Amino acid sequence: MAEHESLEFGKADFVLLDNVSMEEFMANLKLRFEKGRIYTYIGEVVVSVNPYRAMNIYGRDVIEQYKGRELYERPPHLFAIADAAYKAMKRRNKDTCIVISGESGAGKTEASKYIMQYIAAITNPNQRAEVERVKNMLLKSNCVLEAFGNAKTNRNDNSSRFGKYMDINFDFKGDPIGGHINNYLLEKSRVIFQQEGERSFHSFYQLLRGAPDSLLRSLHIQKDPKAYNFIKVGGQLKSCINDGADFKAVADAMKVIGFTGDEIQTVYKILATILHLGNLTFGVDGDVTLIENTKLVSVIRELLSTKEENVEKALLYRTVATGRDVIEKQHTTQEANYGRDALAKAMYERLFCWIVSRINDIIEVRNYDAKIHGKNTVIGVLDIYGFEIFQNNSFEQFCINYCNEKLQQLFIQLVLKQEQEEYQREGIPWKHIDYFNNQIIVDLVEQQHKGIFAVLDEACMNVGKVTDEVFLQGLNTKLAKHAHYTSRKLSPTDKSLEFDRDFLSKTFIYSGKNKDTLFQDFKRLLYNSSNPVLKAMWPEGKLRITEVTKRPLTAATLFKNSMISLVENLASKEPYYVRCIKPNDVKSPLLFEHERCRHQVEYLGLLENVRVRRAGFANRQTYPRFLQRYKMISEFTWPNHDLPSDKDAVKRLLQGCGFDHDVAYGKTKVFIRTPRTLFSLEEQRAEM
Ligand code: ATP
Ligand code: MG
Repeated sequence: MAEHESLEFGKADFVLLDNVSMEEFMANLKLRFEKGRIYTYIGEVVVSVNPYRAMNIYGRDVIEQYKGRELYERPPHLFAIADAAYKAMKRRNKDTCIVISGESGAGKTEASKYIMQYIAAITNPNQRAEVERVKNMLLKSNCVLEAFGNAKTNRNDNSSRFGKYMDINFDFKGDPIGGHINNYLLEKSRVIFQQEGERSFHSFYQLLRGAPDSLLRSLHIQKDPKAYNFIKVGGQLKSCINDGADFKAVADAMKVIGFTGDEIQTVYKILATILHLGNLTFGVDGDVTLIENTKLVSVIRELLSTKEENVEKALLYRTVATGRDVIEKQHTTQEANYGRDALAKAMYERLFCWIVSRINDIIEVRNYDAKIHGKNTVIGVLDIYGFEIFQNNSFEQFCINYCNEKLQQLFIQLVLKQEQEEYQREGIPWKHIDYFNNQIIVDLVEQQHKGIFAVLDEACMNVGKVTDEVFLQGLNTKLAKHAHYTSRKLSPTDKSLEFDRDFLSKTFIYSGKNKDTLFQDFKRLLYNSSNPVLKAMWPEGKLRITEVTKRPLTAATLFKNSMISLVENLASKEPYYVRCIKPNDVKSPLLFEHERCRHQVEYLGLLENVRVRRAGFANRQTYPRFLQRYKMISEFTWPNHDLPSDKDAVKRLLQGCGFDHDVAYGKTKVFIRTPRTLFSLEEQRAEM
């Protein structure tokens, strides 16, 4: 008996609920969670609840059960969605993507890894060595990216602090031949500061706890994280993570992927430099700013393979061009501190981006034959940070939440809007279903000239230092009448902006994070390193001060552009969705916090999703295409029909099979309500 017929575990598809109400939805979700059924469908969307315990449902045997099967044949599972995306890609030659969403700790990254493992497991039946190599590198890249891009937060011990979109390329046989990773906005402020109870990126603790003594000695690093200002702020130095073992795993993964020995050494040197930078302090002697612990400057010089006086100079002075003259201006201690922090953050961010681009160089499709022959299809997997609302929210949260609004908009477009519009176009009787279209929120943020980002950029053009105030004024004038904007006074203690939408509420935006300046002197310092790996990371250091004229794009503009192109990319592919829900805040496998879950169901728009799906049809095909596939089933249509139109022929065929009640006839397409009808047609076809 198929699982959805057994009531013990609740309904395997929310579409089968007796009444689509929040109460019934929640009751079903809870029942299934308590019975250890963490996945439930809404049509082809997988809703997943984080089980917070090891589940015995990802093994080889389970993979075999899902391989090549149709979605409804087996209990709901990530593997089924992965298989559906894979089948669409292979059989119908479609680029597909799997969009995984949900808040921090909901299980997105774990889901993305299971999906990749599944795809790796079902491909390359002939064990081609080259394909095995590619698969191994794709899987290993996760481990490296997590080390450098994830951190322990108060919500998740292994929280992704960057967004990740990964394409896997397949050849005409359906085997992986390469891939490409896009990364989005790393939360680099974590390099210098962590909230109470949190840690910096795993990579630092892994180095301290896992590196051999000889390596630590050469980096002038001691084992104790408490010795380093930058990584001890959050106070959470121990965790359930095994940093020592992870260090070795990451080092091995980097080797397998193809990082050279020099490259790996440079990575360690950069991590060590950042740790040392955090311990640098500045003082004053008369009107001269100086470095108090000069020994550290020598250490940093050695690690960066540059000149000692250059390190000192870059930390204490900046070169400015005034007309034709170039002068050196001494920093105040405040500016020196700012410069040091900016350098640490920029070096880490650049390191992270460099790691991604090195991985891309290596995993990029090599098989040019496949390219030439045209058949090179893609499955994309998106694992991007979910909504987050903290006590204090900053620029990063604003960007992250904007990103989620955009993805929600895409979901609405694809799943809700398009669906309804098609029924209307086809003249299928249809009761309109209300949903909140968040386009207005997306516009509020990204509109040209008067969106929040545009106002922010404008405020940042201001050379003076009062940009936060200018920003707020700008918002108050330009957005005063916007239905979703309510202003708040800016005071020194409360710089928050208020929006009536949860995701954007209580955001503190420091315009400094948008401007994001790193003094040019540091770029030149790193470019002039005699370490070729480091030098290559800082090509813009080549410019002389008088040549630096263009204002760099702001962080907000860069992020907005990357989001727009991400959404365009996703929209060009056939999407599959995994919606992750976090059952409680204490990582308990037993606790289903009703209100917390209800809130997530609400903002993910799951109920609307069920309604549209239920009112809708599982499958639709144009009349000629339908006939082409099923005409052998009926004597009226095989080999050709003599009815006035293809539509009439399809009607006759379906009436003959007794499926007339489960379909609707549109202007150009036939709509089939339940998947079972489709299976049955497929079966009859196979029996012919
Ligand atoms: P973030 O947005 O912070 O990156 P996330 O949605 O990626 O969060 P994950 O890191 O995937 O969250 O999951 C958090 C933790 O929940 C995991 O470290 C793991 O302990 C547990 N978890 C998630 N999914 C599963 C699963 N399918 N089986 C068992 N445990 C899981
Ligand atoms: Mg994650």
